[in-house]
Amino acid sequence: MRKSMCAAAAVVMLINAFCLTSCSPGKVTPKPDPSDTSGTTVTAAASETTTETSAEETTEATTETSETSIQTLVTPPDKGCQIAFPTGDVYNYDMDLKFDPDKKTVGGHVVFEYFNDSEDTWKKLCMRDYPSLFAEDGSHGKNSDGGITEIENIEDDKCGKLKYKRDKEDVSVLWIDLSEPLKPGEKRVLSYDFTAKIPAVADRFGYYKDIYNVTNFYPILAEYRDGAWSHETFSDTGECFYSEISNYKVKLDVPSGYIVASSGEEIDSSEKDGILTYNFEAPFVRDFVFCAGDKLKKEQKQLGDVMVNVYYNEADKPDIDLDKLVEKTYKTADISLTTYNSEFGKYPYDELDILYATIAAGGMEYPNLVIIDNSEAETLADDAHVVHLEMDICHEIAHQWFMNIVGSDSGREPWLDETLASYAEILYLQESGQEENSHITWVSRERFDLSAADESKPDSMPHGMFETDTDYIDLAIDEYKDDFNYINNIYGLGKAFMYQTEQLIGKEELHAVIRAYVQANAFKNADTEDFFEVFYKYLGHDNDKVENMIDMMFSTLD
Ligand SMILES: [Zn+2]
Repeated sequence: MRKSMCAAAAVVMLINAFCLTSCSPGKVTPKPDPSDTSGTTVTAAASETTTETSAEETTEATTETSETSIQTLVTPPDKGCQIAFPTGDVYNYDMDLKFDPDKKTVGGHVVFEYFNDSEDTWKKLCMRDYPSLFAEDGSHGKNSDGGITEIENIEDDKCGKLKYKRDKEDVSVLWIDLSEPLKPGEKRVLSYDFTAKIPAVADRFGYYKDIYNVTNFYPILAEYRDGAWSHETFSDTGECFYSEISNYKVKLDVPSGYIVASSGEEIDSSEKDGILTYNFEAPFVRDFVFCAGDKLKKEQKQLGDVMVNVYYNEADKPDIDLDKLVEKTYKTADISLTTYNSEFGKYPYDELDILYATIAAGGMEYPNLVIIDNSEAETLADDAHVVHLEMDICHEIAHQWFMNIVGSDSGREPWLDETLASYAEILYLQESGQEENSHITWVSRERFDLSAADESKPDSMPHGMFETDTDYIDLAIDEYKDDFNYINNIYGLGKAFMYQTEQLIGKEELHAVIRAYVQANAFKNADTEDFFEVFYKYLGHDNDKVENMIDMMFSTLD
């Protein structure tokens, strides 16, 4: 997500608008393909155990050399390396859905195949029902009086019919008791019907001016980690979404004339009696979302190996040069994909959708689909500010790596996806030749006392940059004092941390570490410990300035 509607966000916009990076040579050699594991029918639990064991062995094997020098440790994946899809089991969602814009509802039948990927026996399941949080007035109260999702006919292939209870503290949290507990590694099938109400709000879930943003819309299994189900409180400023990689097969009925952008790919479509039926497949994603509108225009362009679709509502933008908007969008997407493919590992999907709609943020990321706020498109008319639009697009595209490919707890550890997506903006700016006027360079050097006597202070310093109550960038959303502190730290200070680390260890070295982090955690959920395990494995601990910054900015690392 990229916020742009409050004072704090305005600062972030300024931060994002002025970034600089520089280049230094590095040595990069290939790492074995992590998908090269033995066995074909292992469960995820078994697969994880295997991976952790091998990671520990590898770490131990390199411990002796990690005290020597950074250069000798660097054996991460090559630039442009492939990111292989998992070979073991993943969850499967098979959904038969109907979108009804007259009734303002979405719903249908879901068959969900899953397994216990933990070491604990599950006696109950936790599912999230986010639509129940979205009220017509735009609020997201935990006890929202908005449209509560109807859920019925819950059945388990072992337990039979099941009932659910909504959490007393949070209507979006559903608890389902399993009359027959699910042991580690065991598989189950859960089926249910649901109908969610789509509110009239310009938001991540809602409709506004003939575009329906249907995201986080069906009951989805929460993430079980460290012995407990995660059910973070919904955040209007950040995210609380946290789920497992799954395969989706989705049949979606919409009224004839509706154009749909979605996760995955459209396999086929057919039309009968005023109903248009789409079949989508979305392999290895953390969620399935779609946006729909009967006035949407769709553009298609192949960028490398990826088909990029751009959607916009013509009637929504009377004052915008739409040809210029589409051209700018494709150019930005092309530079972003080319750069991230090289530096983070190759985007493993065939398709990416970029949709313009009105939402309460600069942009929002979903698997294979990003929403860019219409207000950002308005910067197209001003050459001095059009970079805001580009920054939104490149930021949201970067989330395909840091949110979807590598998952994380966006509520408890938001830095893992937002800071890395914000740092990706620097890569974009450099590759697009817009690294001049950077304030990140000057501000972060002064901030971290890294001295840059030859740097002159820019004339128009963004007021308030990094003037926050804490230096920590690894706090949970609700641990920051307010939105200003959260946004400044996670996006701004985090980006400065990454930039300064790059300055201190070398751009090639840092990017190699990021590639290794992506390879080691692709299609899994990572945490801060996972990031620094890779970081130290390749970089060691012998750069005092980097160590000082980490001490200053990470509360969870000792
Ligand atoms: Zn973001």
